[in-house]
Amino acid sequence: MSEPLLRVTDLKKHFPVTGGLLSREVGRVYAVDGVSFSVNRGETLGLVGESGCGKSTTGRCVLRLLEPSDGEIVFDGKDVRKLSGADLQAMRRDMQIVFQDPFASLNPRMTIGAILGEALIIHKLAASAREREERVASLLVKVGLKAEHMRRYPHEFSGGQRQRIVIARALAVEPKLIVCDEPVSALDVSIQAQVINLLEDLQAELNLTYLFVAHDLSVVEHISDRVAVMYLGRIVELAKASDLYRNPRHPYTQALLSAVPVPDPRVKRNRIRLQGDVPSPMNPPTGCHFHTRCSKAEPRCSQSAPELKQGAGGHFVACHLV
Ligand code: SF4
Repeated sequence: MSEPLLRVTDLKKHFPVTGGLLSREVGRVYAVDGVSFSVNRGETLGLVGESGCGKSTTGRCVLRLLEPSDGEIVFDGKDVRKLSGADLQAMRRDMQIVFQDPFASLNPRMTIGAILGEALIIHKLAASAREREERVASLLVKVGLKAEHMRRYPHEFSGGQRQRIVIARALAVEPKLIVCDEPVSALDVSIQAQVINLLEDLQAELNLTYLFVAHDLSVVEHISDRVAVMYLGRIVELAKASDLYRNPRHPYTQALLSAVPVPDPRVKRNRIRLQGDVPSPMNPPTGCHFHTRCSKAEPRCSQSAPELKQGAGGHFVACHLV
């Protein structure tokens, strides 16, 4: 099997918390605490978990929008953490991000043509103004908009259309990987499916690779080849999407999936209610981070952290009982 496009090993991102008159470090937020995964070329890996579990921080560390505290990130054979200058700039072209909020992602004072053209200028991807205009027109058509939309401003578009423009901007530089950070969470449910379908069509056409970050398991099911579930800075389960949804093995994934509505009213699911709130990432529980909310917890769960172990069919689970 060929080398994955992205390989992340034991990634950590800890944010210092300062306080007092001298702004001394008084604690740490363990946002990402030893995360490992890989994404193959042309694949979509869904990264899911509740708010604050570290999934978006993981995505930003991969792109080096945040500097990791520790760990290794290898993208297309290169050690991302060692890149600087022109090499880092080249890598930034190959890895793009689509943020959650299309309203905040676009400069309201620039036309769509200027917004998309800017990326082409920065990366020297069009030799003349005419070529730039042609490429902007073709990008807009590719994401389901019209060429004449390049003369309009962001406020003239709906939320779904703006997210299409954000996707067009990411595509402008012909990336290999796109980190989709909750790309449909701010959109109406009726529009979400359209944007997901667009991302799937573009992936098939351009052989794109996605790291798809979402808090909603039902959103990632459709688009992901594999899904990783995160809890308090760690991956607790990672498997093929069909396998994970049919046969969730970690108690946390089982609880999350039990809350996903099933369209068929004849199918009954036993809802597993999680006790209490997610503990603070400043002071995560010892051993298995999930033990304070797990109905199956045993004494050893608070003493030692379970490893993420591989089972049959590439199904990874971090639980002492599995
Ligand atoms: Fe629950 Fe223990 Fe498994 Fe953690 S290791 S998920 S606490 S049973």
